[in-house]
Amino acid sequence: MSRRLRLAVPNKGRLVEPSLALLHDAGLVFEEHDRSLVARVQNFDLDILFVRTNDVIEFVGDGVADLGITGIDLLAEAGAELPRIRSLGFGRCRLAAAVPNDTPYQVVEDLAGLRVATAHPNTARRFFAERRIPVDVIAISGAVEVAPRLGLAEAIVDLVSTGSTLAMNGLRPIGDILDSEAVLVANPVARRERAEQLAAIETMLGAVIAARDKKYVMMNAPAEKLAELEALLPGLASPSVIPLAHEGMIALHSVVGADEVWGLLPRLKAAGASGILVLPIEKIVP
Ligand code: AMP
Repeated sequence: MSRRLRLAVPNKGRLVEPSLALLHDAGLVFEEHDRSLVARVQNFDLDILFVRTNDVIEFVGDGVADLGITGIDLLAEAGAELPRIRSLGFGRCRLAAAVPNDTPYQVVEDLAGLRVATAHPNTARRFFAERRIPVDVIAISGAVEVAPRLGLAEAIVDLVSTGSTLAMNGLRPIGDILDSEAVLVANPVARRERAEQLAAIETMLGAVIAARDKKYVMMNAPAEKLAELEALLPGLASPSVIPLAHEGMIALHSVVGADEVWGLLPRLKAAGASGILVLPIEKIVP
């Protein structure tokens, strides 16, 4: 019998909570034991290895783990060519060049001849080299945003999501280097030899991710309003229509984008719907 599948997950930092939430939402039952190295999943042939964020890629590359959760920025920095199974819908950020507000630099080309501090030196060097912008990339491991204030560099390259950390440090972005998001990666050999088990995990996680930005909407309406209401409800394919005990009345069920719900409700009501219910969806397998 082959050994249990292993998934490497960061044990600290921003990716931890959303990764665990995804695994729990997928229905995997495991105890975290203070995130000690291994958690055994009770209802699936899977062990979860909690490792340092920067070690996930190495564990998967070496085959110690079959799968891993990491960021696109970390893959780029490690120069790792691991197969990406799917994006996970969290950890969205971008790697951007930024400068202090009170400097004249407007575009990345203005950084020629200057020092750039970053925790992503390989990605930054590659970016500036490809554009033939001669900069001195200074590798530091944390608190990148204070580097200009300390006189260590004139600019930085750092991860940005809302931009509030930059703003708080008196910095403004002048150019994007890379878009990042959390991704599920696989060991190339495991991908070939354990394809079926990996596909099961992919379906499991994909079903949760697909359901997260959707809602299930149910409503009653007079049957003659069907065409008008159907035009408002895209659904996964088309809405379900169910006759009600009361003659001439129907129930309509449909899946709609979570972002669209608030805009849709008054339009459904105006088109004759009543008793509208909006429910969360646990999983969608298209
Ligand atoms: P850290 O929390 O520093 O261990 O970051 C781990 C990973 O989370 C990074 O490599 C990115 O992929 C992602 N990340 C970092 N900063 C952000 C951010 N501001 N918003 C969303 N994801 C981020």
